[in-house]
Amino acid sequence: MSFGKYSKRFDFSDNGWCEGESNCRILKSPNFDPRPKNTTIDLLVLHSISLPEGVFGGNEIENLFLNQLDTSKKIFKPLLNLKVSSHFFIRRTGSLVQFVSMQDRAWHAGESSFLGRVRCNDFSIGIELEGTDFEKFNDAQYDTLENLILSIKNFVPGVSFIASHSFIAPGRKTDPGPYFDWKRVREAIETAKKNIFLFP
Ligand SMILES: [Zn+2]
Repeated sequence: MSFGKYSKRFDFSDNGWCEGESNCRILKSPNFDPRPKNTTIDLLVLHSISLPEGVFGGNEIENLFLNQLDTSKKIFKPLLNLKVSSHFFIRRTGSLVQFVSMQDRAWHAGESSFLGRVRCNDFSIGIELEGTDFEKFNDAQYDTLENLILSIKNFVPGVSFIASHSFIAPGRKTDPGPYFDWKRVREAIETAKKNIFLFP
């Protein structure tokens, strides 16, 4: 399969982890469990996250997903005992981190529903972008995201939908927020490979 300008695609091994430490860093989160038997993964869920809110570039998000966040700090007290994770995290620089194998269920969606199916964690892959509801994402993040989406599609051909966290948890979640450029991502993917995704 040719990805045209998206030739820097990510490679995955059969165990669902990215290969090649040069462009994807692996930090194994304890926050995962097996997907239900015979689950078809067909959804990508896009999120944004920052810790502290609006602050970029620290290690807090990695620490959160590794259960190593310093919750003695007052600002992180509300996150005490929170057990969450995501399969992937794209930093402001565009660098990619993987926390959970795609074979397993990461804990990113919470209470959620997609086109009538509940518990989206069961059948989705979670991608977090370092960002907020209040500012634009970086070009480097879009480049990595588009490469990642195409790479996942190559590895998990059943993946057919891309939705926001706010779409699957309306009223509860707003991410990745109004600054996320869906048109840009959709056009990039359609240019690289036509008609592989539906954006509900
Ligand atoms: Zn989210």
